[in-house]
Amino acid sequence: MRLVTFTRGGRRAIGKIAGDRIVDLPATDPALPRTMRELLQAGPAALDRARQIDPGSAVTVALAEAKLEAPVPDPSKFLAIGMNYRKHAEEARALGVQVPDAQVWFNKQVSCVTGPYDPVHMPRVSDMLDYEAELGVVIGRRCRHVSAEQAPSVIAGYLVVNDVSVRDWQARTPTMTLGKSFDTHGPIGPWIVTADEVPDPHALQMRMLVNGEVRQEANTGEMIHDIWQQIAYLSTVMTLEPGDLIATGTPSGVGVAMKPQSWRRVGDVMRVEIDGIGHIENVVVAEPA
Ligand code: MN
Repeated sequence: MRLVTFTRGGRRAIGKIAGDRIVDLPATDPALPRTMRELLQAGPAALDRARQIDPGSAVTVALAEAKLEAPVPDPSKFLAIGMNYRKHAEEARALGVQVPDAQVWFNKQVSCVTGPYDPVHMPRVSDMLDYEAELGVVIGRRCRHVSAEQAPSVIAGYLVVNDVSVRDWQARTPTMTLGKSFDTHGPIGPWIVTADEVPDPHALQMRMLVNGEVRQEANTGEMIHDIWQQIAYLSTVMTLEPGDLIATGTPSGVGVAMKPQSWRRVGDVMRVEIDGIGHIENVVVAEPA
């Protein structure tokens, strides 16, 4: 099932994709919630109820007539791991970045979340705007102290992430958080592909294209710390909640490591594709006054 958050005619709802249409879940079944976090909180029974709706007898909207929003517009957490692909860790090391053996975690502030086709702001205070193609994980149930073996059971599904980064702000301090958290710098989507439809999240081919040119191309099987290890490590520290987002790392090919370095400009189109999941595409615009 591909789950979306969408807006049409000023009304926001959640739905599931059926061909070129969206099944409006709460309009079809008033027992279903109106937001993605509430749907995930409601658990597997609610997801099954949504799954079993026959599109032929449901309230639907043409995909072309709806605006797709971030599938989870308001996560309680947006965590991201750094330097989790070997070739990317090597290119970071060449730039003078310390790469520890431990998992490197930082926050993207949840206020940076934006839609799969929404514009991304070129900050007023920097021209070192960069991209990072990543597979995103959406947590499906409240959990703590999850072992790597149990980790698949707490995942609702997967989506595409561009971990947009402002490199001078990122490098200025060790925490990275400010350089990762500018408004609009967390495009996600276009939908959540539920975990039952992703037989192996460590075998997905992904790529980043800038204005149609491939800049990153890798397989999620190349992660240093796999998704199960990431969830085990994070949940040692904190309770994970339904709708929490985890960005699982980016492969090599980021602009900051190119020679010469390559920065995004107003008008550039960044597109992240993950086979079996979908794609997001975001144009760079000047930060509004
Ligand atoms: Mn990243």
